[in-house]
Amino acid sequence: MTTVDTPPAVTSFLAREHGLFIGGGWRPGETGQRLVSTNPATGEPLATLARGGPGDVDAAVTAARAALADPGWRDLTPLQRGELLHRLAELVEAHADELALIESLDNGKPVSVARAVDVTTTAKLFRYFSGWPSKFEGSTIPLSPRGGRRILNYTVHEPIGVVGAIVPWNFPMSMASWKLAPALAMGNAVVLKPAEETSLSTLRLAELFSEAGFPPGVLNVVTGQGSVVGAALAAHPGVDKVAFTGSTEVGRLVTIAATGNMKKVSLELGGKSPHIVLPDADPKAVAAAAADGIFFNQGQTCTAGSRLYVHSAIYDDVMSALVEEANRIVVGPGHDPASQMGPLVSARQLDTVKSYVESGLDEGATLEAGGSRPAGLDGDYAGGYFLEPTVLTETTHAMRVVQEEIFGPVLVAMRWTDVDDLIDKANDTPYGLAAGLWTNDLTQAHRIAAAIKAGTVWINCYNLTDPASPFGGYKQSGWGREMGRGVLEQYTETKSVWVNLS
Ligand code: NAD
Repeated sequence: MTTVDTPPAVTSFLAREHGLFIGGGWRPGETGQRLVSTNPATGEPLATLARGGPGDVDAAVTAARAALADPGWRDLTPLQRGELLHRLAELVEAHADELALIESLDNGKPVSVARAVDVTTTAKLFRYFSGWPSKFEGSTIPLSPRGGRRILNYTVHEPIGVVGAIVPWNFPMSMASWKLAPALAMGNAVVLKPAEETSLSTLRLAELFSEAGFPPGVLNVVTGQGSVVGAALAAHPGVDKVAFTGSTEVGRLVTIAATGNMKKVSLELGGKSPHIVLPDADPKAVAAAAADGIFFNQGQTCTAGSRLYVHSAIYDDVMSALVEEANRIVVGPGHDPASQMGPLVSARQLDTVKSYVESGLDEGATLEAGGSRPAGLDGDYAGGYFLEPTVLTETTHAMRVVQEEIFGPVLVAMRWTDVDDLIDKANDTPYGLAAGLWTNDLTQAHRIAAAIKAGTVWINCYNLTDPASPFGGYKQSGWGREMGRGVLEQYTETKSVWVNLS
């Protein structure tokens, strides 16, 4: 079921026989087979998708190559390219409610979150990157040639070519936009592979691309399984760069597949971020922030503050307030305005998360909150993938729940006393995506921030991102940075031109 108030535009969109978006038009997949996209709040089918195959990836890459050579794209001035991106941002805003509802029904997240975070971020990204085409300049390099020669040396940034973008299901449309906005700002063409669980919003976004005036083939969307469509895209010899967001395990496969033609690779991978509380922090305020840091988006956030380290002096106060916060969170279907947390994305993800909770308990952790299906979600929602916000204490560093990314609403909490030991523990996972810390002690804040091996450190805040600020991971959390000026380097080749003036 969708919802009683689903507007006709969304109902008719969901009911469509969704195809693949290739060369500016829709076509069925080569296999003729369909994938079912499920409503996580009910467990019922929401829509069906084309199950693409390697031949479809091939057709999409050919369409993207043709777009690169099309004067309608290739010869646009930087300002004209920026204008298209700006128009797209406006269209996303004009369709914000519709896009938010599609995202919420497909992913499970509360529609308020989809509207305030996913859709807003998407529009903001296109708007931010619309300014860059006319500003990303090359340089004139001061050389020191031998023998008094006069040489002019300058650099130009050129598009890399065809970008294969592979994205996950946790923020479907905005994760796609993190790649699309800089890639298109720099004049590339893209073949996008959305996650099979949540392809609908990107299919709707593709239509908005056409409406904004992007020429055919500049964006292509191929839906289907990761092991088929994603793998074919990562290995395709006609793809010049692959930009991947997802698990570290699949990131490794993508990287290996990309070596066939040595395509450029950028990776945004998993995390197990430490959220650190110093003894001077306000226990109640920190408890609320720590709850939000883990339970936001049902814990399905790469930067989720999933390991909480609280100084012993205030551990009991923080934990009792945190357990109250966790128990207060209203879990329900995403379209219900009262819901603060929705279901997990799929039955498979729910099973994975539940099995982590069991493993924590088997290894000796204590369940302080949650761990079960919330009461009262019966009737239409009896088949939904709901889990209570869950807090585990008495956890130790060797436990799987402390070392591995759970990607669900499960917090593990630990106490600390010695700051050097805290830093060692905070850094002691294969990941290095983000960290948070709460204190007004400036010296400690900067010392700890410097010692943490993570791409983002939030001090007295958590989970903030902005298109202007670099984002990415140390260690096995990724390669490269997205957003900000720096990402533009990842979507361009730099050419150094030497002119002999002697
Ligand atoms: P996943 O790795 O299972 O899938 C990601 C994408 O890869 C999907 O589109 C999937 O279909 C595709 N895929 C699967 N197998 C493939 C293969 N063999 N070759 C090519 N593509 C393949 O990840 P997920 O479960 O969709 O997302 C959760 C993961 O994503 C978590 O680990 C999370 O931390 C990570 N993530 C990271 C960031 C970040 O910015 N660092 C952001 C969001 C999510």
